Amino acid sequence: MLVSSGQLLAAVGRDANNQFYPVAWAVVQTENYDAWLWFIKKLKVDLKLEDGDGFTLISDRQKGLLNVVDQELPKVEHRMCARHIYGNLRRVYPGKDLPKKLYWAVAKSFNASEYNKAIDELKKFDEGVYEAVMQRNPRNCSRAFFGCKSSCEDVSNNFSESYNNAINKAREMPLVEMLETIRRQTMMRIDVRLKKAMKRQGKYTLKVANTIKEEELLRKYCQVIPCGNGQYEVLENKHGFKVDMNAKTCACRRWSMTGIPCRHVLRVILTKKHNPEDYVNCDWYLASTNVKIYSKSISAVNGIGFWIRSQEPRIQPPPREVTKVPSVIILEVVRLWELLVEGGRRRKLVKNQAKDKAKNQAKDKAKNQAKDKAKDLVKHQPKDQAMEWNE
Ligand SMILES: [Zn+2]
Repeated sequence: MLVSSGQLLAAVGRDANNQFYPVAWAVVQTENYDAWLWFIKKLKVDLKLEDGDGFTLISDRQKGLLNVVDQELPKVEHRMCARHIYGNLRRVYPGKDLPKKLYWAVAKSFNASEYNKAIDELKKFDEGVYEAVMQRNPRNCSRAFFGCKSSCEDVSNNFSESYNNAINKAREMPLVEMLETIRRQTMMRIDVRLKKAMKRQGKYTLKVANTIKEEELLRKYCQVIPCGNGQYEVLENKHGFKVDMNAKTCACRRWSMTGIPCRHVLRVILTKKHNPEDYVNCDWYLASTNVKIYSKSISAVNGIGFWIRSQEPRIQPPPREVTKVPSVIILEVVRLWELLVEGGRRRKLVKNQAKDKAKNQAKDKAKNQAKDKAKDLVKHQPKDQAMEWNE
């Protein structure tokens, strides 16, 4: 993220309702290994990330950041942003109609079966595009290869884009004003979200309710075959999925990855007449967790006039560079300028004169035409009427 004299680094997270939560932001001189090392070390301490186990990080896997994450958070699941790869492909194939739907089917595959099917479709569409996708290692950005520890199904950092849009105006401001504006915006956001979180009725956030609603629409295509010991084979369009209610798993991996029951599990729950919310396997989505997330805000800060003055000399803006120009050149420039101005004036005068002449000519013409017309009218009128007009 570029600001006038440096880069704005930002860490954006997800709240319990799957909306973005600004965690930290800082301005560094340039985006390199040292800057990322400093930023990640601060995050590591503040968020108690330790070796990163159980956490998920999504980025464009820029080299400096990649090295720092490997070093500081060796156990974090570092995903590649699928949208970033897609943007990259569009640059490689500027005129080509990239199969957007097929590409995102690869990224959003929850399991190996869906992934292989999507990859085959992509290959069938265009061998070149397929090769380009494979070169970028889609395993780093496909759900089929993600772990399930963090209950995070994200394949792209779209929420970072939402954050960028939210602070867009602030980014055009001078440094201190920009940071102050972002801080105040964040305080207001936390306040609004807290009020919304407190209004939420029910055990879980809207994210859970919406996901269950979407999966329930697909439940009707499923058929359950019980196998005993809490296990079921669920057929969806004749394709079988093994559901284990005791282990809380389904072969489609949606239940394990998101913590929210998938269509296959919902089909089993329907036969038991149980409440789907009782099978949510993730406390992150609790409505009470969301209230907790927004219960703490940033402390209010006094205006700049209250800030402790440093004993160091005040930093002044750099002086404007004035290049000395020899007087002969100045005189020549002045002369040229005068000639240009004079030439412009003359051109304007000639133009105006031509305009006036054309205007007068048009006026005379119209006058003469009107006179001729009047004469003709009089000539062709009946005699008494012509008399009347002349009186
Ligand atoms: Zn399933």
